[in-house]
Amino acid sequence: MKTIGIIGGMSPESTVLYYQTINREINHRLGGNASAEIIMHSVNFAEIVQLQKNNDWAAAAHLLAHSAAKLETAGADLLLLATNTMHKVAPAIERAVRIPLLHIVDATAAAIKQQGLHTVGLLGTRFTMSDGFYTERMAAQGVRTIVPSAAEQDEIHRIIFDELCVNKIQAASAHHFQNVIGSLKTQGAQGVILGCTEICLIVNAQNSPLPVFDSTALHAQAAVNAALAQ
Ligand code: GLU
Repeated sequence: MKTIGIIGGMSPESTVLYYQTINREINHRLGGNASAEIIMHSVNFAEIVQLQKNNDWAAAAHLLAHSAAKLETAGADLLLLATNTMHKVAPAIERAVRIPLLHIVDATAAAIKQQGLHTVGLLGTRFTMSDGFYTERMAAQGVRTIVPSAAEQDEIHRIIFDELCVNKIQAASAHHFQNVIGSLKTQGAQGVILGCTEICLIVNAQNSPLPVFDSTALHAQAAVNAALAQ
């Protein structure tokens, strides 16, 4: 089994889910008391959020590339960056190491295409929904994304940072997500990407008006596939 390196803490609420999903999936596949070999570096999320607010993506890239290099030195065979947003700086991380970075967009796009879908809604931070790095990589893989209106994006962004990332789950926020997903459906979305690793804490297959593609679970499963590949 290969050793999975996780750059985590963005936020810790979703890193927990990565750890749990990867271990449960390894156990499901291998049986007995099998669990994953994982090395994690969990960053101080406040530093990342401040760099995002300052629009200092170069400093964020430097910080996360350093984290990746530490994991490689510690013996990781492959890397997971446990956040959608910070994939904005994925190229800098990839340049800092020789081991592969499993890109969250690729894992999510593969699942969408496996279901035979071509147009999906995208929910995430404002950066993920509007900066292009995410939607363009999806488009390159044949997946068209529809994003919420600017006002809806603002509220989703606020819910992610003020609530979900600090373990606050509120019914009114769940309703907001449901309304937005309903609107994406009327615009032609066949499914919806939970393109922020905390959205699965409040939106799931049971309460969503559209089939969900949970980036956290799909990314974690891709890591298990890679860890068990020969
Ligand atoms: N976990 C979130 C994501 O998947 C947001 C936190 C961050 O800005 O990294 O995008």
